[in-house]
Amino acid sequence: MERYQIKPGQKVSLKDWSPDPPRDFEGGKESARADVAELNRKLEVLQERLFAERRHKVLVILQGMDTSGKDGVIRSVFDGVNPQGVKVASFKVPTPEELDRDYLWRVHKVVPGRGEMVIFNRSHYEDVLVVRVHQLVPPEVWKKRYDQINEFERLLWETGTTILKFFLFISKEEQKQRLLERLADPAKHWKFNPGDLKERALWDEYEKAYEDVLSRTSTGYAPWYIVPADKKWYRDWVISRVLVETLENLNIQVPPPLEDAETYRRQLLEEDERVSP
Ligand code: ADP
Repeated sequence: MERYQIKPGQKVSLKDWSPDPPRDFEGGKESARADVAELNRKLEVLQERLFAERRHKVLVILQGMDTSGKDGVIRSVFDGVNPQGVKVASFKVPTPEELDRDYLWRVHKVVPGRGEMVIFNRSHYEDVLVVRVHQLVPPEVWKKRYDQINEFERLLWETGTTILKFFLFISKEEQKQRLLERLADPAKHWKFNPGDLKERALWDEYEKAYEDVLSRTSTGYAPWYIVPADKKWYRDWVISRVLVETLENLNIQVPPPLEDAETYRRQLLEEDERVSP
């Protein structure tokens, strides 16, 4: 999966990247789907161990253009994972209360605690994406944010957080198809937001803003992955693999077995003997 990871300092130009699976990808859709189901089960076990160990914290950041599949990833990659140990934080247009504070305030409040995994559906990166594209603050303000974000993420990392950042890369044509699909099916109309068309018109500006994010904020401690996302099955496969491999490498240690389990077991069994005549 290293091919999708941006090295620190690597300059990203999205025209050099593909939103499609590699041509030589073996097995295709069916085998990728089967792998994802198996990776789901592994993730379930790993997440339970993470929760039991209560040491590591895991933060997964999902970014991408509208319709790139952030919600879809949360549904398929985390399918079956115990909701007690996994939280999703979605970042919308900031509230007046949030706007009165620094942009990282609302983010820092919801980072994972020990043993937790938190998925960010959008994130603090909106503050150098939508905010830049729509000129919601002057350039001298957003330009400082790349360093601020790197330092913020370093703080999280130095205090035990594993950070994975996924940019779901779709083509403009695929977005058009997905929007058309939503419009074609009345049951999916609720997913369509007329505002998406306005954002779509700013595609090139967003791509430029993403290129700067990917070039300036992929660090050794919080790397970005560019995930080809035109095919949902490939997108899920890449993310599942990165996630499971990263968690496996954490070498999570669950608490040791109880030394006096046998004593407790006897106590419970004797309790049965006492109540039955
Ligand atoms: P989603 O598209 O994620 O399913 P919404 O349709 O509610 O959910 O979109 C959330 C909106 O909030 C997006 O348009 C996003 O750009 C916007 N947003 C998120 N963070 C910020 C921010 N810091 N400043 C301005 N807008 C933001």
